[in-house]
Amino acid sequence: MKLNIISPKWPEHSLWGQIVFRFPYLSLTSLAALTDDKWEVAVIDENCQKIDFSNLPDLVAISLMTPLANRGYKIADQYRSKGVTVILGGIHPTMMPGEAAAHADSLVIGEAEATWPQLLNDFKHNQLKTIYRPTGFHPLVNMKPPKRDILPPKTYFFTNTVQTTRGCPFNCDFCSVTSFYGRTYRTRPVAEVIREIEPMAGRHIFFVDDNIVGKPSYAKELFKAIEPLKIRWLSQASLSIAQDRQLLRLAQKSGCKGLFIGFESLSQENLKAMGKSVNQVKKFREAIKQIHDYGIGIQGSFIFGNDHDDQTVFEDVVRFVEKSHLETAIFSVLTPFPGTRIYDRLKRENRIINTNWDLYDMNHVVFKPARMTPEQLQKGLYKAYEKLYGIPSIIKRLFPLNKNSLFFGIQNYGFRMAWLKTIKQSAITKQHITGKK
Ligand code: SF4
Repeated sequence: MKLNIISPKWPEHSLWGQIVFRFPYLSLTSLAALTDDKWEVAVIDENCQKIDFSNLPDLVAISLMTPLANRGYKIADQYRSKGVTVILGGIHPTMMPGEAAAHADSLVIGEAEATWPQLLNDFKHNQLKTIYRPTGFHPLVNMKPPKRDILPPKTYFFTNTVQTTRGCPFNCDFCSVTSFYGRTYRTRPVAEVIREIEPMAGRHIFFVDDNIVGKPSYAKELFKAIEPLKIRWLSQASLSIAQDRQLLRLAQKSGCKGLFIGFESLSQENLKAMGKSVNQVKKFREAIKQIHDYGIGIQGSFIFGNDHDDQTVFEDVVRFVEKSHLETAIFSVLTPFPGTRIYDRLKRENRIINTNWDLYDMNHVVFKPARMTPEQLQKGLYKAYEKLYGIPSIIKRLFPLNKNSLFFGIQNYGFRMAWLKTIKQSAITKQHITGKK
């Protein structure tokens, strides 16, 4: 029996579709690991490989985030028209099961660990149900290591992605983490994480946790156990890490080279409204210095278009990023992903102006902002990116050079290239806001 596990490609107009330094989605290799050896499994990431519709498997599983949903539905429809059974799973089908069901023989809602083996068994016996929903959350013990060896060689920047925790103790209104994982923060046994890392080729690891320091006592135990492995690692963390010097020291000693951190806004009112009061704007500079003092670089994330943002937000944020020497930054427009509180609120306020999921890539305005027009928000985002990934800003942010400058220099180069390709698509942006071709 043959199974294809697929991630659809990002829309062409999206910055994320242009990224050159890719790493594989853990969801694909994890699902492959949950599949018993009697299956012949292929993992296809359409961002890197073409789907061969002439070579039909018995079963197709497609993992969908919201911006990939339209493309995923097309792939599903094409396979189904040829008689292949299609399963849809991931965050978008979990939040929009009614919509996704029209393109699938069956849906996997939420985490797949508990339901996938049963689904495969039902399929074999011709008893596939239309929906598989777990009764609780996986305890994250005895997890099978993802099947990384199934990935096509030389396709990714690196393949060492590992998850140590799921969920986040916070509940920001724009974020789908808590709606997908519930108000849980679960951790894997440290010994199991170490067993997974030890045999890996290469000493660079990306921990794909949403917040690796969500439970500081666990993070400290993990970092202590990692230290002897002499790895270099990156992950995502909340800014709360800056309040705990012991945690920072242990992160540094264990090989942490950089963290993706959501600052989100320079307005405390915005942060309060989104439920991220853990971020205190007046302490941002001090927190950044603290993290930098431990040799850890920062990729800061900022969201434009919150209700207290006017047109001054773009310059203010770029200036802040440069003055604080954030090594890289990601700018997004507020995006009301289905399943989030911001989606419910903007829908209630009749402010969602576009439901084409292709545009839910965090780079395109799909709602009416409170203090500017959608077009002003769109242009502001583009101008802010243009400045951020211009050579003068890159130099300003990366100097004086340190041990991490090479890595972050490469990352800035990657983002600059992706950005330059993205602006070629700006006609699409204009068209979707004005409705004119
Ligand atoms: S801190 Fe980050 S991961 Fe946690 S809920 Fe907020 S945005 Fe999501």
